[in-house]
Amino acid sequence: MSQSTFPPASRPEQHEANGSSDRVAFVTNATPQGGFDHDKLREGVRLLLEGLGLDTSHPGIVDTPGRVADMYDEIFAGLVVDPGDVLDVTFAEGHDELVLIRDIPFASICEHHLVPFIGRAHVGYVPNESGAVTGLSKLARLVDVVAKRPNLQERITSTVADTLMEQLEPKGAIVVLEAEHLCMSMRGVRKPGAQTVTSAVRGIMRDDPATRAEAMALATGRGSSST
Ligand SMILES: [Zn+2]
Repeated sequence: MSQSTFPPASRPEQHEANGSSDRVAFVTNATPQGGFDHDKLREGVRLLLEGLGLDTSHPGIVDTPGRVADMYDEIFAGLVVDPGDVLDVTFAEGHDELVLIRDIPFASICEHHLVPFIGRAHVGYVPNESGAVTGLSKLARLVDVVAKRPNLQERITSTVADTLMEQLEPKGAIVVLEAEHLCMSMRGVRKPGAQTVTSAVRGIMRDDPATRAEAMALATGRGSSST
């Protein structure tokens, strides 16, 4: 969890008046612990456009700073929501087999370049003896909330796995993410379509090679091994 960006260093709860936290609540279906400073966001985007030599009074972009600030409420909503809050725990006694959802779509923003990376997540866990499980849609929501931050793909992967371990205390968990990074497609090496794959395995998924291999093959739809 050392790399987690939650909670942010300075939690801007004083900015609820601008509607920021309402939009966060709407997109995450969770209780936000604050909102964002739209004055700073608008000013930052204005400076960025001016830095490009653009006339920010031009009709096409005059409202862009405000639009971007509103958009950040959505795409960075995970900064002010605790991912643990989205996982409810129920008990399905005797269920100790792998629960796995494949192909959960997600979109996040690379913290190095502030451009998107977009892909799919595969999330699975083996419930503990008491059968602590969560709703299948909650696994997708967990990925969504964690992705809605300035991120590294590796951090989303480990944060989803660690949140599952903390909330459900399962025997093990596996998270695999596959994504295309626009900072690799549009700039730098310019390799559109290249997929970056990351995985995190916890508990028996890490300790038992056979269980890990089976889960990894199921998660990715092909035989594979994990690091
Ligand atoms: Zn990047």
